[in-house]
Amino acid sequence: MAPEILIDKSGLLEIRRRVEREERLTAEDGLALYATHDIAALGELADFANRRMNGLRVGYNVNRHINYSNLCKLSCMFCAYAKKRGDEGGYEFSMDEILERAREAYEAGADELHIVGGLHPDYPYAYYPEMLRAIKSRYPELHLKGFTAVEIDYFAELAGKSHEAVLEELVEAGLGSLPGGGAEILTDRVWKKLYRDKMGPDKWIDVHRRAHSIGVKSNATMLHGHIERDDEKVTHMLRIRELQDETHGFMTFIPLRFHPENTNIAQLGIVHGVSSVREIAVSRLLLDNMPHIKTYWIMTSLEVSQICLTMGADDMDGTVVEEKITHMAGATTPENVSEADLRRVIEGAGRIPYRRDTVYNEIPYPAPARTPRPVASAI
Ligand code: SF4
Repeated sequence: MAPEILIDKSGLLEIRRRVEREERLTAEDGLALYATHDIAALGELADFANRRMNGLRVGYNVNRHINYSNLCKLSCMFCAYAKKRGDEGGYEFSMDEILERAREAYEAGADELHIVGGLHPDYPYAYYPEMLRAIKSRYPELHLKGFTAVEIDYFAELAGKSHEAVLEELVEAGLGSLPGGGAEILTDRVWKKLYRDKMGPDKWIDVHRRAHSIGVKSNATMLHGHIERDDEKVTHMLRIRELQDETHGFMTFIPLRFHPENTNIAQLGIVHGVSSVREIAVSRLLLDNMPHIKTYWIMTSLEVSQICLTMGADDMDGTVVEEKITHMAGATTPENVSEADLRRVIEGAGRIPYRRDTVYNEIPYPAPARTPRPVASAI
């Protein structure tokens, strides 16, 4: 007989009936999903909801991350990435180093560059549109997904301009979409405890609203596994759901597993596989208007991500190639996975892989080889 703790008494059956009728779940339902110990039933229900939206298809992209500098004016409690000038481990890529990475990505057949960094203490605002222009003029095939809402807010402060004006200038320089970082947990309590000097929840929502209003699509993340409570994760998701109802500008939701090593809250330790699976499943069920739920294998491992594909996720990021933010916080996953391996992981979960671009258009597989271009100096 199954142990008592595994038998669902939390209302999961009633929630299942409502999911089957395509009724929207409430905050109370979200809490019940977090409370259940029946991970198999939760995952099966999320898989049902996912397959109704996406069938058996799982998207992935061929991309490269460029974390251009980890010098940052701020010191968020959960961040192991940021350094001050002169600190061991601090770095900034020159424009030539950025362009070299872009060239490598282009020649490797990538469709996207994912560009994020710290709030650099010295770069003027003009540096950022120049960076985009320099890349885009040489490699127009690459979609530039760049700068979290936090960076956009910082650029607006540097430029003395509105978020919207900055976004419009960056789009003109080559920006294609916004990543979803910097959301952390969208409640004032977590904001004030962990990252009070960084933009708060209302501003994060507003930057994405502005982006969507000018036609820039974006993603949304949630950093879990630190001091947040279940009700705060539910609040976080419902705030995103509310904005999505208004704008339909989000493409995918990405739970991010907190990595504590080298942070100021390292004593919290790390959450394990079941937590990663639960966040995927709960988000698939609560975010009924989000087209995709992504498992970020850099933070969870390929093995756990593969399980997530059977419990609510229909999207995987990506080939990545070089990643610093999570690895400086102790991640032991590789930084790079081949397209063939990604497809094998997806097929191993019983799903059908499809290669996609950043905005979820399907790309034929295998993609044609690219002709190398000369090394492109910024000068
Ligand atoms: S989370 Fe971002 S803003 Fe905060 S310290 Fe790290 S790099 Fe800087």
